[in-house]
Amino acid sequence: MAVRGRFAPSPSGRMHLGNVFAALLAWLDVRSQGGTMVLRLEDLDPQRCTRERGEQLVDDLAWLGLDWDEGGLEPRWCQSARTGRYAAAFARLEEMGLVYPCYCTRAQRLAASAPHLADGTVVYPGTCRHLTAEERAALEGAGRRPAWRVRVPRETVTVEDGHYGRVEQDLAAACGDFILRRSDGVYAYQLAVVVDDGEMGINRVVRGRDLLESSPRQAWLHRMLGFTPPAFCHTPLLLSGDGRRLSKRDGDLDMAALRRAFRPEELTGVLAWWAGLRPSPKSAHPRELIQDFSWAKVPKNDITAQLP
Ligand code: GLU
Ligand code: ZN
Repeated sequence: MAVRGRFAPSPSGRMHLGNVFAALLAWLDVRSQGGTMVLRLEDLDPQRCTRERGEQLVDDLAWLGLDWDEGGLEPRWCQSARTGRYAAAFARLEEMGLVYPCYCTRAQRLAASAPHLADGTVVYPGTCRHLTAEERAALEGAGRRPAWRVRVPRETVTVEDGHYGRVEQDLAAACGDFILRRSDGVYAYQLAVVVDDGEMGINRVVRGRDLLESSPRQAWLHRMLGFTPPAFCHTPLLLSGDGRRLSKRDGDLDMAALRRAFRPEELTGVLAWWAGLRPSPKSAHPRELIQDFSWAKVPKNDITAQLP
C-alpha cells in the first residue's frame, strides 16, 4: 500500500525543537518508504492560531529542508476551514446515538476526575451521560451551554505502535466519554484529527509520544466513522535540562532562536544524532539521512536536549 504520512503542526506559536524533531522523523518515515507527505495546519483554536503563524511554520519547515507533496496553507488543508467536515462527522455520530451534551464546568470535571493520563486527559466520570430531557431543559434554561461528548464503549482497544509496541486501553476506564465539541462550538482535536487523517487518506501517523495514549481513542473513532485507522509510530520526546518536556514556553529553543544560532544542516545533524541515526552531531541535510533511516535505531527513552 502506498504510504501517506503527514505533518500536522498547530500554528499556535513558533515551532520548537521538539516539534522539529518529530517532524524530521515523520518526514524520514515517509521518504524512506517512497511515500507521499501531506502538510495540514491544525489551526482549530481561533484564539491562538493566526495566518501569520501558519506562514511562519511553512517557512520554518522549508528552511529545514523538510518538503511535502500535498497540503499547505490553502483552506482545504487547514482545520479552521474544514468545520463543515467535522460537523458532518459529528452528525453521523449523533445519528448513531453516541453523542450527548455535558453541562459540567471545568471545575466540576476536575473535582470529579479520576487519574490523569500522561497527555493531560482527565477521565470523565459520566456525570451527564444519563440526564433526562427535563434536566437538560432546566440547565439550558439557566443559560448553560454544553460541550458535546461521545459515549465510549466498555471495550479494550488495541493499537500496535510501530515504535512503542502494543497499547491496550479500556476506553471507559482510561479516558471515559471524551469531548467532540467544546461549549464555544469549536470542534475538539480528537474529532478533527480523525476526520482529517481519514479523509486525507493518511495511513502513517508519526508524532511525539505525548499523544501515544490518545491513539486507541482515535483508532476507535476512525472505525466508528468508517475509516481504517492509520498505523501509529510515536517518537521519544525532547526534554529540557531539568527533565521537563519541551514546550512553547522554552523560547530559547523555538525556531526563531534556532535559526539565529544554527544553519539548517547543523540543526538537522544534531537532531539526527539524538535520533540515533548518526554517531556524532555532524551537519547533515535531511536527504542524506533517508537511506539509512530505521526505527530500530531511534531510542525509546526521552532525550535531554542539550545543544552543542
Ligand atoms: N497538532 C498537534 C501538535 O502540533 C499534532 C497532532 C497529531 O499529530 O496528531 O502537536
Ligand atoms: Zn458533564
